[in-house]
Amino acid sequence: MSVSHPDRVFLNLAVDLARQAWRFGDTPFGSVLVAADGMILFTDRNRTVTDSSPLLHPEFTIAEWAVANLSAQERSACTVYTSGEHCPMCAAAHGWAGSGRIVYASSSTQLAAWIVQEQNMNASPIAPLPVQDVVPDIIVDGPDEELSDEVRRLHRTPFEQDQSLVGGRQPRHVDVLHYDPAWPGRFEAERDRILTALGTTAIRVEHIGSTSVPGLAAKPVIDINVSVEDVDDHTAFVPSLTDAGYEIRVTEPGHVMFRTPASDVHVHLCNAGSSWERRHPLFRDWLRDSGPQNLADREAYGELKLSLSGRTWEDMAVYNDRKGPLIAEIMARAEKWAEATGWHLCPQP
Ligand SMILES: [Zn+2]
Repeated sequence: MSVSHPDRVFLNLAVDLARQAWRFGDTPFGSVLVAADGMILFTDRNRTVTDSSPLLHPEFTIAEWAVANLSAQERSACTVYTSGEHCPMCAAAHGWAGSGRIVYASSSTQLAAWIVQEQNMNASPIAPLPVQDVVPDIIVDGPDEELSDEVRRLHRTPFEQDQSLVGGRQPRHVDVLHYDPAWPGRFEAERDRILTALGTTAIRVEHIGSTSVPGLAAKPVIDINVSVEDVDDHTAFVPSLTDAGYEIRVTEPGHVMFRTPASDVHVHLCNAGSSWERRHPLFRDWLRDSGPQNLADREAYGELKLSLSGRTWEDMAVYNDRKGPLIAEIMARAEKWAEATGWHLCPQP
C-alpha cells in the first residue's frame, strides 16, 4: 500500500498538529489515531517543552490511550498518521500495544539528514531507526513528498523567526453568518479581476471555502483558489496581484495568500496538480451534494462554525485549529466518494 488520497487527509491533520506544537515552541510533531471506519479517535502533538517532559511524544501518548481505551482487536485495526516517523521509543510502544498500520509524512531518515544539513536543528540522542527495525512486522507507508517539505520547514525555522506570515500574527474577530445568496456573484467579480491581472498565468480559478456552499453558514469572506505553474516563482504573480489591489499575507512553500485591504476576499495561490488544488474543491463539491451524509456533514460543519462565532481569536490559525478534526473526518468521506464516483476537477476555459 502507498499513501492514498484518504491517507493524505489524516496526514494533513497530523502536520497541522505539528504546526500547533511549533507555534507553542515544542518540537514540530503531531499524530492522529484513526479507527478502521475512518473516525478520529485521538490526536496529540509534541508537548515536551509545554509540559516539561522529554517523553511526551504524540505517538507515545497515542499508544497509551489505545491500550487504555481499545481492545487488542480494535487497536490492530487502527492506523496511526504522524507528521514524522516514530522514534524507537514510540515505535516500541506502538509494537507493544499491537497497533496497526503507520503512515508518516516524513521519515526518520529524512529527519536525520535535515539535522546534518540545518543549523537550527538539535541533534537527537536517539538513533533514527526506521520503525521496521524496532517492530519488524509493522505495515508502514510514507514519506509524502509535499507534506515532508512542510515538516522540514517547521523543523528548520523556529516560530519566532518565521517570516511566512507577512505582517505577523493579528487578532481577528470572527462572525459566522447564515448563507448569503449574493456570495457567488461576489466571487465572479473577483475572478474577473484576478483573470484581468494574471491572464494565462492563472491556470484555474475556483470558488472555495464556506461561501461556495449554498446553505452553509460562513464567515463573510470569499475564498478563491488560483492554480499556477510554479507558486514558488513569486515574480509571475506578486506584482500583478499587488497592482490589482490585493495585499500579500502568507508566503510558504507551495502556497501564497493575498487578501483585500478589507480582508473580505482571500486569494490562495497553489501549484496546478497539487493536493492543495484538489482538496478544497473536493470538500466544496462534497458539501454541495444532496445525499444524506452530505447534508449531515454540511449541518455539523455549519453548527461547529456557529459555535466558534462571535469571538475574537488571537490569530486565525487558532480558529482554524478548532475546525481541523471535523474537517478531516468530512474530507475522508469526500475522498472515498471521489474514488467511488470518479470525481475530478472540471476543465476550465
Ligand atoms: Zn517518539
